[in-house]
Amino acid sequence: MNNILTIDTEEAFLRQKSLMIHSKNEEQVIAQKLIEILSQEKDALGLAAPQIGCHKRVIAFKNAKLNEQNELEYNQIMVLFNPAIEKKYGEVNSNEQCLSIPGLSGLTKRSMRICISDKYGFYKLDSLMAIVVQHEIDHLDGILFIDRAEEIHSIEKEEPYGTE
Ligand SMILES: [Zn+2]
Repeated sequence: MNNILTIDTEEAFLRQKSLMIHSKNEEQVIAQKLIEILSQEKDALGLAAPQIGCHKRVIAFKNAKLNEQNELEYNQIMVLFNPAIEKKYGEVNSNEQCLSIPGLSGLTKRSMRICISDKYGFYKLDSLMAIVVQHEIDHLDGILFIDRAEEIHSIEKEEPYGTE
């Protein structure tokens, strides 16, 4: 079992804004924990520090893309420290779920492409990764996808690709 906080019992915690991270030691500890937990969550693409009980601006996401068979391929897990969205382009509808909100999915509007910065550099992301990172950065500001979603559906755990 992992230690991911959910809104059932920890909504107040998840709603708080996270603080900038400065200490390199702290960066390592949080990054390691995020990577460990996210790598065990087969169906999840991202995780933010507040979800594991830490109000620091750190997110992790799986560098995934669709292959020619239209299947997701995962590469390594990336971690960003103090990430910020610098530019956004376009708009997409995204059907999102969240480890902190079991049982619900929501149709949410996101930017199609984003330029982001973090403590160590600049990155351009598009499609799925752009969506995941927008979702995770929201967590750092206490925002959840259910706040943005235009439609919310309940999902059956047994059917990850369930018809609404
Ligand atoms: Zn989430």
